[in-house]
Amino acid sequence: MSRVRDRQERWLHARISEGLEGALKREARRRRQPVSLLVRNVLEGAFDLVEDLMENGLEVARRSQELVRTAGRATLEDVYGWQELILNRPAACAGCDARLRGGDPAYRGLRDRAGPPAFLCPPCVRRLGRPGADREEEAR
Ligand SMILES: [Zn+2]
Repeated sequence: MSRVRDRQERWLHARISEGLEGALKREARRRRQPVSLLVRNVLEGAFDLVEDLMENGLEVARRSQELVRTAGRATLEDVYGWQELILNRPAACAGCDARLRGGDPAYRGLRDRAGPPAFLCPPCVRRLGRPGADREEEAR
């Protein structure tokens, strides 16, 4: 056995049906490849495909988690009021994404429906007054 072929390669004997053997031989002839090379390429391709599918699955899971997180942050339309409180545990401001720590003053969004808690930092709550000023200008 040559040293090049010996490199990390192993023989694998597998029992296959006559029909599969015929199909492999026909495909190998069509591709002008030895049957063993065709079988190896097909097997490697199948495992690459499985790996791709698993990576895509993980990517989909990661994206949907991210979507749930950002959706929870983005939907503030149904908040009817902001209640001042002192945080006991860290949170992120839904307005500016500022990191809020335990002991920080914050405002919790109150909604009619149950949902993920939304917090605003004091500067973001002060900014809420601006749309009212715009409406006064429109009324003129
Ligand atoms: Zn903020």
